[in-house]
Amino acid sequence: MTTAVVVGSGPNGLAAAVRLARAGVDVQVLEAADTIGGGTRSAELTLPGVIHDLCSAFHPMGAGSPYLATLDLERYGLNWKWADIDCAHPLDDGDAGLIHRSIDATADGLGTDGPRWHRMFGDIARNFDNLAADLMRPIANVPRHPLALAGFGPRALLPATVAARWWRTEKAKALFGGVAAHAYYRLDRPATSAVGLMITASGHRYGWPVAEGGSGSIAQSLASMLLDWGGKIDTGVSVRTASDIPPSDLVLLDTSPRGALSIYGDALPARVGKAYNKFRRAPAAFKVDFAIDGDVPWTNAGCARAGTVHLGGSFDEIAAHEKAVTQGVMPSRPFVLVGQQYLADPTRSAGTINPLYAYAHVPNGYTGDATEAVVRQIERFAPGFRDKIVATVVTSPADLEASNPNYLGGDIIGGANTELQVVLRPRIALDPYSVGLPGVYLCSASTPPGAGAHGMCGANAAESALRYLRRKGKDVQ
Ligand SMILES: Cc1cc2nc3c(=O)[nH]c(=O)nc-3n(C[C@H](O)[C@H](O)[C@H](O)COP(=O)(O)OP(=O)(O)OC[C@H]3O[C@@H](n4cnc5c(N)ncnc54)[C@H](O)[C@@H]3O)c2cc1C
Repeated sequence: MTTAVVVGSGPNGLAAAVRLARAGVDVQVLEAADTIGGGTRSAELTLPGVIHDLCSAFHPMGAGSPYLATLDLERYGLNWKWADIDCAHPLDDGDAGLIHRSIDATADGLGTDGPRWHRMFGDIARNFDNLAADLMRPIANVPRHPLALAGFGPRALLPATVAARWWRTEKAKALFGGVAAHAYYRLDRPATSAVGLMITASGHRYGWPVAEGGSGSIAQSLASMLLDWGGKIDTGVSVRTASDIPPSDLVLLDTSPRGALSIYGDALPARVGKAYNKFRRAPAAFKVDFAIDGDVPWTNAGCARAGTVHLGGSFDEIAAHEKAVTQGVMPSRPFVLVGQQYLADPTRSAGTINPLYAYAHVPNGYTGDATEAVVRQIERFAPGFRDKIVATVVTSPADLEASNPNYLGGDIIGGANTELQVVLRPRIALDPYSVGLPGVYLCSASTPPGAGAHGMCGANAAESALRYLRRKGKDVQ
């Protein structure tokens, strides 16, 4: 029987494993950690019964993933849950921009910028499925929906700082800036609008759901499906060299390019090794999880109904801080993302004690303590927050890397979204998944279409691997 080993059980490793198993390949997954899931794991981090997402939290790209949509993961226990409001962005004057799943409701809250919100996002949201089908594949593919892509391209290629000039009000501008900051790169660089456009549009198409019971349900559902298709998963197995990988027809690496380099070393073609060495890291996350008694006392009532709250003040402030962290400088008021997953999914709370998720954007490899900066940003828009805290767990960039070797220096997006790497990751190649060795593929978020718990990197890499098997005359579906 044709065999494959998948190194790593993040959403991409598991998506690849499922695709191969369904094609008739005998799949074994090797995971270094004691639990599966990589960036899709949850745990009682602070207090018993209080469930925290250890990494990913909100899943517009999961709910909108063309591959996950084919799997019917609900049968394996995955249920999406939505808060009333997807995203809030409070300002110092007490006002806040609010993203609802309904584009009309969002526009209604933006006053004179309402019609502009429609014009910026309306067609992208309407065409989201077609766009995702093209944009979530490597760029070398012939587009299936060239018209939709032609409409999206000119806006996506703009620096977010230029796209932001479209808005008249600070509320709309800051709301867009907070989403664009998910690019994790300085916003004055070309193509930094693309991430903001796609995440906002995916929200208008699918909302920004959480997984009931925690993001770990995404991994659990994929793993259950894999086991049903005859796959195997071994945890606590760290692959350090190629000799740790059992003989197989295929190897799929849910690792960073650096991880692939340390496993295969000089066996990789020199040009590939050089490209993997040069692959640039993104700034880092400094994560702080709280258990709070009751709710966050937000000044703006909309924030109290929002799953995600972006804290960074005005667009210009966010742009300045994103530039600083990209340049390795820690700002005094970093961009902070707050997650109130329990609003959508009350099963995560224990009585009146709720989990509150937060992380700040900090320079890659940052060794300071950003806990107080995170608390101060929340207090800025929710005075009295400090009194609600009953427990705190801090996860520094070094802790993130220790928990998952893919998070180099605390980079949680699998490599910087530089002008080049945002589409041509991890290197310029017709098949970006190939590591240049027969049957060996990279399938992590360091490949197209990049970060997110959508499984598309894994599914695309598995398709490349299946083409290779077919070329060798193997009978796979
Ligand atoms: C704090 C944080 C917040 C995030 N928020 C969101 C969000 O809200 N929404 C969203 O969509 N995405 C979010 N992300 C990003 C998302 O989690 C990642 O993009 C996604 O998990 C990448 O999946 P992956 O399969 O490529 O890699 P990972 O999820 O990183 O999994 C890789 C797995 O491979 C294992 N591994 C690596 N090397 C080896 C080895 N040599 N041997 C054995 N095992 C190995 C690791 O232990 C890990 O389990 C967030 C990430 C973090 C950390």
